Amino acid sequence: MATDYYELLGVDRGASPDDLKRAYRKLAREHHPDANPNDEEAEAKFKEISEAYAVLSDEEARARYDQFGHDGLRGGGMGGDPFNFDLNDIFENFFGGNPFGGGRARGPSGPPPGEDQEVVLDLTFEEAIFGVDNKVEIQTAVGCEDCSGSGAAEGTSPRRCTECEGAGQVRQVRQSLLGQMVTATHCPRCGGLGEEIPTPCRQCRGEGRYRESVSYEVRVPAGVDTGSTLRLTGRGAAGPRGGAHGDLYVHLRVAASGKFNRDGDTLYAELNVTMLQAALGARINFETLDETVELAIPPGTQPGEIFRLRDHGVPRLEGRGRGRGDLILTVKVEIPSKLSKNDEDLLREIAEQRGEKVADPGDRTVLGKIRSAFQ
Ligand SMILES: [Zn+2]
Ligand SMILES: [Zn+2]
Repeated sequence: MATDYYELLGVDRGASPDDLKRAYRKLAREHHPDANPNDEEAEAKFKEISEAYAVLSDEEARARYDQFGHDGLRGGGMGGDPFNFDLNDIFENFFGGNPFGGGRARGPSGPPPGEDQEVVLDLTFEEAIFGVDNKVEIQTAVGCEDCSGSGAAEGTSPRRCTECEGAGQVRQVRQSLLGQMVTATHCPRCGGLGEEIPTPCRQCRGEGRYRESVSYEVRVPAGVDTGSTLRLTGRGAAGPRGGAHGDLYVHLRVAASGKFNRDGDTLYAELNVTMLQAALGARINFETLDETVELAIPPGTQPGEIFRLRDHGVPRLEGRGRGRGDLILTVKVEIPSKLSKNDEDLLREIAEQRGEKVADPGDRTVLGKIRSAFQ
């Protein structure tokens, strides 16, 4: 569990942008690596508070964080661009460079990977329970075949950046509040990639990737529910200039069923029996999700009584044990709302024999009208 960003900065949740900036500046000075040489704890703390500030100082990211916590920052908005907070921007603003030399300034160690992406997949109630093979379509970035991701037009190739000589970083020495600081910033000429492209590929304009709509097969395992997320490794956006693909997160949204309610692995449904079946007992068929079962209703069954059908619920997802949950049926006794003359006579006879006081035929008509007045 990651530490709460507001706690890290020691501010309350209503803190204004100025409050945040003040709190961060104070903490950052205290924990800055240059002020704490070879202190790993201070370095870790510095990274943490910088991350917290990066998120909370971005209005959109802060809103996501307030609503969804750390989960809200993992990927992008539905259909929008993935959210990637950039610590480099923070370091630029406060210190004139990234004290770790990381972030965007990757140097010749290789192109950065592509962004993670998110998509919502709608499932029927049954699909979520039994699993399904489905497809999702996303707008994403794919590697450019024309230039094999290099970004350079056919017959040309990228060349070493003249500004940083391939390092991807430019070092600067400057005076700061903390004394002399040597900082490495990403090279503005090549964007930290260490190389530049004299003649860009026409298909991708030198990016090595371009936007396209792609569909992927998604194997949904049995037992998922709304809120389940599948991660498809390497199905996110292609990185620029041949960089690796990010991941694709598929958020599942499950439709309701008209017949069943679901709580985790347990299913609930009503079991309708007639007044006479409840009184006399019966064998009745019930359609579960995947089969017809015969239920023995004992004589004298009461409304609200429960039948538990073991292993007729939702299959347990991997890692939560084997088998299936239960199906719980609650008895609902149906009282006939219309009776034939013959039925009525028979029921009156029973009532008389049992000594039960019931409305006489004239009064029954009156009572029926009262009920319709209530409805
Ligand atoms: Zn290209
Ligand atoms: Zn450069």
